[in-house]
Amino acid sequence: MTVLFGTHPEYLEHDTGLYHPESASRLEVITSVLDRFGDGIVRFQPTPASAAAVTGVHNGSHVAEIRQLCLMGGGPIDADTQVGYQSYDIALLAAGAGLDAIARLQRGEGDAAFVAVRPPGHHATADTSMGFCLFNNIAIAAKTLVDQGERVLIVDIDAHHGNGTQDIFYGEQSVLYVSIHQHPLYPGTGRVSDVGVSRGVGLTINIPLPPRTSGQTALAALESIASSSITSFEPTWMLISAGFDGHRADPLTDLGYSSDDFFNFTRWALQYVPKQRTVAFLEGGYDLAALAESTVAAIEALLGASRKPDQLVPAGSVDKDLIAALSRMRSAALRHHDIDPPSH
Ligand SMILES: [Zn+2]
Repeated sequence: MTVLFGTHPEYLEHDTGLYHPESASRLEVITSVLDRFGDGIVRFQPTPASAAAVTGVHNGSHVAEIRQLCLMGGGPIDADTQVGYQSYDIALLAAGAGLDAIARLQRGEGDAAFVAVRPPGHHATADTSMGFCLFNNIAIAAKTLVDQGERVLIVDIDAHHGNGTQDIFYGEQSVLYVSIHQHPLYPGTGRVSDVGVSRGVGLTINIPLPPRTSGQTALAALESIASSSITSFEPTWMLISAGFDGHRADPLTDLGYSSDDFFNFTRWALQYVPKQRTVAFLEGGYDLAALAESTVAAIEALLGASRKPDQLVPAGSVDKDLIAALSRMRSAALRHHDIDPPSH
């Protein structure tokens, strides 16, 4: 098994300002731990996404505004999100990583791919850059696959809800969006009752989790609430928003995951798609040691490595009441749309 690993030295040049948690150090710690995988990792340097691929998801005028802001030297977009002179070109390189990974997997160059990109993407909507994100890298890749006739499962394990990704595909019948995220937390979206609109009804699955939720409960919630819907969707590709800020050490969030949980989430998701059809995109993760460990865990799962039980955190208790309540709320929302909830 080999995992294609895409990253680019220019990602380090995206300047978010002093003391910003989304810093270049994040990629430096990730790349510093890759040697342990030996030949299991095949590195590649991404090329920029085309303007057509980006405007397949984002409004042309919005893309032009970001470019203009960068050309003028950069500046703040909102309280969390800023750009420097090079950020537009770097954002195109980040979006291109997913597209290159897909093309390489289609050519049979690896069994799965992980792209370690900056800036991240899942908060970016069609016309708004926000939450450290300029362009929605995973959405641009998903749209490209949909245009090729594929059915795309997006699994978003970042601690924050991927409001941009949900928004872009909310009425889309060829994309199933599944998110586990802390609630309440930025950006405040991702209610369990948000299930999609028109042809996309039922194809948004939000699993909001209270602070301190364990990885065991999150995994059980995924299995209980999303599993049958994913199976009946019959995805041909899977894209993972691999944010690691749900780690219990993360300074921005309050979830209770360990790095082993990211191994388990990734391994769980892999059962739904054929080999050579998975790309994981780096999103958040702001404690540098936890970020490195968690990335290693996710890549181990992509490699199909099995961990001995004693390497995993002992199974903790699962909050079954929480899962039952979320299931009931989702079923009620689906019935409101005259959709029979999938049987479990
Ligand atoms: Zn996040």
